[in-house]
Amino acid sequence: MKIVIAIDGYSGTGKSSTAKQVASRLSYTYIDSGAMYRAITYYLLTHNIDFQNEQELSKSLANCTLSFEGSSILVNNQNVDHEIRTMQVNQNVSQVSAISEVRSKLVEQQRKMGEQKGVVMDGRDIGTVVFPDAELKVFMTAEMDIRAERRRKELEKKGMNESLEVIKENLKERDRIDSSRKDSPLKMADDAKEIDTSRLTLNQQIDKIVEMAESIIYAS
Ligand code: C5P
Repeated sequence: MKIVIAIDGYSGTGKSSTAKQVASRLSYTYIDSGAMYRAITYYLLTHNIDFQNEQELSKSLANCTLSFEGSSILVNNQNVDHEIRTMQVNQNVSQVSAISEVRSKLVEQQRKMGEQKGVVMDGRDIGTVVFPDAELKVFMTAEMDIRAERRRKELEKKGMNESLEVIKENLKERDRIDSSRKDSPLKMADDAKEIDTSRLTLNQQIDKIVEMAESIIYAS
């Protein structure tokens, strides 16, 4: 049997890298829900949309179609993998993600992508809102200094140099907005398993989750 694996947690805890590899080990589809919120944010920023203006926002959302091509994300058929990782998107994405109209559009699309099961999706509300019945829910945490350093290295690899202080402030601010918003705040689902990744290598995180998934898959 195929299952749904929901991986939630704070920014920079290694969710995406882990989820991607878990999906590959199980031959499942990986869906990065954060990339979807980032892609909408990128679209709104590049079209100079005042996203606090409901009418303007609704019109733009209707004109903005997201799709995946393998693990790449496209906005109206344009690949935006690189563009969605900039500091400008980092600094606006949590405000955009707090808007209910944005969330309902994306949650609907995410549920469709998971209908056939066999998916690993990472985000903030996957185990609580998108797939409350997911067979495996994981909640990832890590110490702030470690999260910031991981994010700095990730940006550096993409040719973007940012100071640790700026990155740390951004992570804290996103945690604050993501955890305190009214619609689908970031919180651990009651039935999620918490993994603190501060002292784990990427491979150890992947092994842990694959092990948990296989015990569910083979028990059924
Ligand atoms: O996972 P990532 O850091 O790329 O997500 C970027 C932002 O998208 C988060 O800080 C959060 O504001 C938003 N997000 C969300 N719900 C999700 C995934 C991401 O609100 N399921």
